[in-house]
Amino acid sequence: MGKKELAALFSSNPDRYYKVSLFDNMGFMRKKCSMCEKFFWTLDSAKNFCPDHENYGFIGKPPTNKRLDYVDAWKETEKFFRVNDHEIVRRYPVVCRWREDLYFTIASIVDFQRIVGNQVVFELPANPLVVPQMCLRFNDIENVGLSGRHYTGFCMIGQTCNADAPGGYWKDKCIDLDFGMLTRGLGIKAEDITFVEDVWMGAGAFGYSLEYFVRGLELGNAVFTEFEGNENDYRVMPNKIIDMGAGLERFSWITMGTPTSYDCSFGPVVGKLVDMTGTDTDAEILTKYFESISLKLDDRTGRSSTNSIRDLKLLIAKEMKLSEKELSAFVAPYEAIYTVSDHIRTLVFAISDGALPSNVGGGYNLRMILRRALSILERLGWKNMVTVEDIAELHIDYLKQIYPELEDHREDVKTILKLEASRYSSSRERMNSVAMSLKSSKKAKELNVDDLIRLYESDGVTPDFLMEQGIIQNVPSTFYTKLAELHTSQVSSQASKPIPGLENLPPTRLLYYQDESIRHFHAKVLKVIQGKYVILDQTAFYPRGGGQEPDTGQIEDIKVVEVTKQADVVVHKIEGGGRIPAKDQTVHGIVNARRRDLITKHHTATHVLNSASRNTLGSWVWQNSAFKEEGYGRLDITHHSALTKEEVKKIERSANLVIRENYPVVIKTYDRGDAEQQFSFRIYQGGIVPTNNVRIVNINGWDIEACGGTHVKSTGEIGLVKIIKSERIQDGVVRLEFVAGEAAVSYMQLLDSQLASIAQTLGSSREKVIESFDKAMQDAEALKKKLRAMLRVVSVPIAKNISEQAKRLDSGIHLYTTYDEELDDDYHIAIGEKAIELDKHLVYLALVSKGQGIRVIVFAGEAASKRVKASAIAKQVSSKLGGSGGGDNRFGQGGGKSKDSIKEALLLAEEVAR
Ligand SMILES: [Zn+2]
Ligand SMILES: [Zn+2]
Repeated sequence: MGKKELAALFSSNPDRYYKVSLFDNMGFMRKKCSMCEKFFWTLDSAKNFCPDHENYGFIGKPPTNKRLDYVDAWKETEKFFRVNDHEIVRRYPVVCRWREDLYFTIASIVDFQRIVGNQVVFELPANPLVVPQMCLRFNDIENVGLSGRHYTGFCMIGQTCNADAPGGYWKDKCIDLDFGMLTRGLGIKAEDITFVEDVWMGAGAFGYSLEYFVRGLELGNAVFTEFEGNENDYRVMPNKIIDMGAGLERFSWITMGTPTSYDCSFGPVVGKLVDMTGTDTDAEILTKYFESISLKLDDRTGRSSTNSIRDLKLLIAKEMKLSEKELSAFVAPYEAIYTVSDHIRTLVFAISDGALPSNVGGGYNLRMILRRALSILERLGWKNMVTVEDIAELHIDYLKQIYPELEDHREDVKTILKLEASRYSSSRERMNSVAMSLKSSKKAKELNVDDLIRLYESDGVTPDFLMEQGIIQNVPSTFYTKLAELHTSQVSSQASKPIPGLENLPPTRLLYYQDESIRHFHAKVLKVIQGKYVILDQTAFYPRGGGQEPDTGQIEDIKVVEVTKQADVVVHKIEGGGRIPAKDQTVHGIVNARRRDLITKHHTATHVLNSASRNTLGSWVWQNSAFKEEGYGRLDITHHSALTKEEVKKIERSANLVIRENYPVVIKTYDRGDAEQQFSFRIYQGGIVPTNNVRIVNINGWDIEACGGTHVKSTGEIGLVKIIKSERIQDGVVRLEFVAGEAAVSYMQLLDSQLASIAQTLGSSREKVIESFDKAMQDAEALKKKLRAMLRVVSVPIAKNISEQAKRLDSGIHLYTTYDEELDDDYHIAIGEKAIELDKHLVYLALVSKGQGIRVIVFAGEAASKRVKASAIAKQVSSKLGGSGGGDNRFGQGGGKSKDSIKEALLLAEEVAR
């Protein structure tokens, strides 16, 4: 049974599923749509089709006397539900840190969904509640700014409750409230409201729903999640969930009746951008155009519409008796303003919540929309009139009335936008050259969506840029959808190969959580698998996990070399000699104490460094991943650029201050919902926690994380942390490598002894080593100068001698060859040059031993070079030596590696010269 069958099933029993008390009390009639056969409820007896086929009858003539802009629409909603005993919950981050399968929060209900095992469970911080949840979606980008109602970021008003918990209610009260909100809150007449029957299917749960419409505009959808299981095998949930989601943008729009929902939802931003860019406005044309486009775009009239926006535009222009160009002159700048406003608003929320535009993961979509916005500003010649930071400021000024936290991130948002804008403008050079070659190759005409995606992925060339360059006429409607699809879902980490035979074993009691200081313990052997995997009833061995290396040690006299955890069972891998323990035997386990202590220090140091980095660099810093072992730790953080030396020093100083302050490290287990509410989603630095209880590691409020690793009792125990390297390992991620505790001391001692040995070689002391080094460098330089001077003096007699020694060949050439293992190429260049100056018939060939190879140097005097070129000799000799060479008539050089061929090479030279 699919969605359609399920809908039919529910609609076949409307009294059981859809009929709510409001319908009876108010006299709503149930009707079947004459066009699509959907069932709907209305007070209008003449109405015989559902709102899907209705014009937007509110543009220019809103069905209420109230005029609510975006902020006021929220205030009205908030007031209504507060009076009706709902708790108003602050929005959750748009970056979905609590679900591994999502980058972004895509609906209000996601706030309250947690994955436990393979199941979605609902956890509500209050009952009932309403949340103004910003949601990000990147699947409709091509319509954003053009359709009048599509967004990459929008506010979903989430009205949510657990029907079976105290304070909860079910569908009668839900629809009463929503009806009350529309009529009393927004001032809409009951006759204008239509409810449409629908179904909703989610992961592991489903239900039926009533969508509510006013004059053709869907305002919200009340989902009654009543069943768990799938459509073939289901039962009533013990805790039924009401999930009503309504678009705040639409609440505002229905009361304002503006040509697009953007005109009211962005507050004063659109008007200000119109002023700043000097855009012409013709209200009549704009209203007519956007009314038509929203009507025609998604087949609202029942006519088939496979048309692209461009085709629709042509159609509408015709209807309005305008040329495409005339229409475009008014519409295009508005589309640009709407698009850019949407994209920057989305970025304001995402960056505030700690996301960074990048080439990977969810950051991909953010960079894509930012580059699209920058392209548009450039294309319309606005980039000197308004910057993306300006637009972000306008949004924050307005939205802080609903979301005061945006003010705290104003500077962060501007910093990131500015940096990304400058990166974009420097990458335009490369984009320009790609564009040039496209133009000349005439491939441009054949560019399809896949080509455009490849151009964006490999060269960062956005289709908007290609449009700006006149290479393509319009962006194919599927481009952004396809691109977003490539980058939507997160890749789950690969699990290690499971060890068979652990089924039916009870969970291992984890002594390392009861008391982290246990190093000796007794336990009963439950099972031994393949003679090398031991399972105990309890253990103090910490298994590999969360980037922390496992403990080693002994069980009785056998070595434990690896410890892993599979589901709830800890597996000890044993190796080497000794008697393998038997089932039911009581054994003595000994954890390698020194190793554990060192790993624990490195582990706790990652917490300290993580917060030190965030405090030093900015709120976008999150732990990306971490690794800690005995002698070394590694922390990858999200950050936009490589770190400067100064930044590294600052982080190091800040971390060591926390160590010296000796803050207590307090570990406590919380109910997950409580921990999230109390400490925010910052706790999920090491990823999400798939259990109902979370172990919170709190370093005196300075760093608070959910963590299952091992920790020192107070920061002073770490002793010292030293960053030994920082490196930008991928776009948006910086790696810090560090040593802590004794490993830091060893590292410092190593540096110290290296320095001492350098000092000794220089005949200096450590204190004066820099001075001595500078002096040694100066001395070496002076010596070189002196040598060159001496060479000039002695080169004349040596050169004369060479000319005398040279073989007189029949060809008239005087050939001198030598193989030298002592003197270097500087010497032979000086001598060769002098020698051909004195003897114009001379060819001077020197093979100079250099490390593993041989350097070839050839000079040919003026007369000699008429017969044989220096370059030709260099080339042939080098090739004989297994290398290559070249040059000009007078001077040639080259080299090779085969020292065995020196004799042959010299003979070959003579042959060539003859
Ligand atoms: Zn219909
Ligand atoms: Zn930890």
